[in-house]
Amino acid sequence: MLIGVVTIQGDFTEHMNMLQRLNVQTKGIRLPEDLEGVDGVIIPGGESTTLGIVGTRYGLFDALRERIEEGLPVFGTCAGAIVLAKTILESDQPRIGVLDIVVNRNAYGRQKDSFEADIYVPKLGELPVRGVFIRAPVIESVGEGVEVLAELDGKPVFVQQGNVIATTFHPELTDDSRIHRYFLQLCQG
Ligand code: GLN
Repeated sequence: MLIGVVTIQGDFTEHMNMLQRLNVQTKGIRLPEDLEGVDGVIIPGGESTTLGIVGTRYGLFDALRERIEEGLPVFGTCAGAIVLAKTILESDQPRIGVLDIVVNRNAYGRQKDSFEADIYVPKLGELPVRGVFIRAPVIESVGEGVEVLAELDGKPVFVQQGNVIATTFHPELTDDSRIHRYFLQLCQG
């Protein structure tokens, strides 16, 4: 299996390290042709506006949208989730826009720029995952085809729409690989 990690900006190294720990081959993705041969793609956290500007200029966002619509599995964390979202409140920033959710950037507030919380993900067993939230977006609502895999304070923080999964937190910053393994299962199927 070969997993592409978008290496335009953000914490792609942490995702690559996590995948390497799971003995999965990784490949950095910047250009459309880099998508050749990958079984799935991770879009890391970072700054969604930068990701969007560069990803659009490189033609990567158009290529990704096409491949995702054809069924390529994709996993976005935080800024990665934002660029996957169809609706970004009060923003016309570039996006891939394949995930039917409404996100509100930085909506957990500046005071709490960063916080951690236990997140219960019923599909992953009884032990919660540690959610690391860094200037995270709030998912305000989800469309009909979107499954909410975990919530915090009544707001979705881990969602899935078919071959697309997204978290507003950063599992790659913890030692818990369950969410990455969940994604790898999608890539195998
Ligand atoms: N606040 C960032 C944004 O809106 C996302 C932060 C992150 O990815 N940790 O793009």
